[in-house]
Amino acid sequence: MDCLFCKLVNGEIPAKILFEDDDVIAFEDIAPQAPHHFLVIPKKHFSTLNDLALEDAPVIGKLPIVAAKVAKEKGIADSGYRVVMNCNEQGGQTVYHIHMHVLGGRAMSWPPG
Ligand code: C5P
Repeated sequence: MDCLFCKLVNGEIPAKILFEDDDVIAFEDIAPQAPHHFLVIPKKHFSTLNDLALEDAPVIGKLPIVAAKVAKEKGIADSGYRVVMNCNEQGGQTVYHIHMHVLGGRAMSWPPG
C-alpha cells in the first residue's frame, strides 16, 4: 500500500519522533500551523475515521492519551492546545492514514475554518 504514514511508521521516510510504542507513534508535523504542531497516529493503517470499528478502541483510545503526554512534555498542557482529526475531503483530510493533530503555543479561534 502506498501510504505516506505507513512508510513513516516503517522508517522509510524520516520524521522527528516524539513518542512510540507498539501501537502508536507521535511526530512533529512537517508543516506546523502553530508554534507546536505534532501528529499522533496508529501504526495500523486506517484510511479515515469512517474505517474504525469498536474493536479498534484499545489502540485508538491511546491517541488522546499520547497527545496529552507529549503536550505535557512540551510544556503546553496547562496553557492549552487543540486536538483535531480531519475526515475526508470536506473535513480537510489530505493524508489518508488517520492522524490526530495537536496544535498549541498560541490562542486558537472558534469556529475553525
Ligand atoms: O488532516 P490532514 O490530512 O490535512 O493533515 C495531514 C498532515 O500531515 C499535514 O498537517 C501535513 O503537514 C502533515 N504531513 C507531515 N509529514 C509528511 C506529510 C504530511 O507531517 N511527510
